[in-house]
Amino acid sequence: MNVADSQRVAFVLERMGYSPTPRPEDANLIVMNTCVVRQSAEDKAYNRLQSLKPLKKQNPELVINLMGCLVGRQDPASLQTRFPMVDVFSQPSDLEPLINFLSQRDGKNIFNKEVTLQSLWLDGEAPIPQSQVGNMVTAFVPIVLGCSHACTYCVIPSRRGAEISRPPEEIIKEVKALVDKGIREITLLGQIVDRYGKDNPDFPNLASLLKKINEIEGLFRIRFLTSHPNWLGDDLLKVITELPKVMPHIEVPVQAGDDEILKAMRRGYSNQDYRALTEKIRSTIPGVSIGTDIIVGFPNETDEKFQQTFDLLNDLKLDVAHLARYSPRSGTVSARTLPDHIPDSVKWDRFRKLEELQEKIAGEIHLKKVGKSVEVLFEDTRKGRWRGRTPNNELVFVEADHELRGQLRNVNIEWAGPWSMIGSLA
Ligand code: SAM
Repeated sequence: MNVADSQRVAFVLERMGYSPTPRPEDANLIVMNTCVVRQSAEDKAYNRLQSLKPLKKQNPELVINLMGCLVGRQDPASLQTRFPMVDVFSQPSDLEPLINFLSQRDGKNIFNKEVTLQSLWLDGEAPIPQSQVGNMVTAFVPIVLGCSHACTYCVIPSRRGAEISRPPEEIIKEVKALVDKGIREITLLGQIVDRYGKDNPDFPNLASLLKKINEIEGLFRIRFLTSHPNWLGDDLLKVITELPKVMPHIEVPVQAGDDEILKAMRRGYSNQDYRALTEKIRSTIPGVSIGTDIIVGFPNETDEKFQQTFDLLNDLKLDVAHLARYSPRSGTVSARTLPDHIPDSVKWDRFRKLEELQEKIAGEIHLKKVGKSVEVLFEDTRKGRWRGRTPNNELVFVEADHELRGQLRNVNIEWAGPWSMIGSLA
């Protein structure tokens, strides 16, 4: 979501006459977009901000815009005393404060109107920076902003606000514009993306939206994330099998394997429910890959409770697991009501156990692909090799000295590791 927001900022700034510079020392304007989902992310944002202080001293004309979840929905006046070097504060996804600041300072608003994210979207623009047009093959398209689920550990609802779906016609226009700029794959984004349209009776649901996007010519692939186990409906699963452009990969976080922990997290399902769901996903969509998120060290997670998570991952052999150590976030229910008593060493130990397990599982899944041909959409080069992704969202590298960017090619897989595979063009 932040990548998508940052690209929109870059797009708007280019329109206002700014161009990118690789070194912060050379910049007249620095926008720092922040994530605070875990304390470590928040600490990083603070440190980075502190590191900008000398630049501001050297160049008092430098404009610093602090954006995103660190600002959240707080009053900028209260933030100003904490961050005196910041000139502009912007809530997540909000471009208005920066545009207003620059327009007032320079005495002109090149947009000749109030510019909000909404109005930019309504213009049907492809919100990617011009400097990246031709390089970008994949793009993120936020379709549900905010979140109203309120998992007890999660700071997002209070920082990004309540769930709001974007109008379908706006989304379609944006995807078409992106395709015109060379984008071949889009990922539709939402904290609970399968709740798309549930907040507005006039909007289609995600399955119907996918059908419309599938018709867009020139677009090769569609992905969506993140799903929630309780909202990933049968209609959606069916649509994935029917629509050729919708990729067989689902990101559906389980967060924990123990029922009491799941209840304390207010996730709304049980270990057994999640197992049944993965079974249904796999029987409905042949060859599907499944990704999950897991938090270890949630309050009251004993060794036995952690073992439930370990066993779940070991039994289900999911393709990807994004792991996190529990981090109490101020303002959340769990931080307020449950002491964070699990030592960091125990959290790390559990994290590493799952990491090791997942490395083995992913390695075995990929090894089965050696000798097979997979379709890869090529995105860019890394260390002299072309890099792309399979329909299951796996990374593939090939050696090729001709242009492959934006091309769909069959690749014979010759080597497989847990995090990527290597092959040659078929
Ligand atoms: N909205 C999705 C969901 O919760 O199912 C995922 C989005 S969230 C930004 C990404 C992941 O961060 C979550 O799935 C969770 O595993 C992790 N996370 C969120 N809050 C956390 C916390 N307080 N401590 C540790 N990890 C956290």
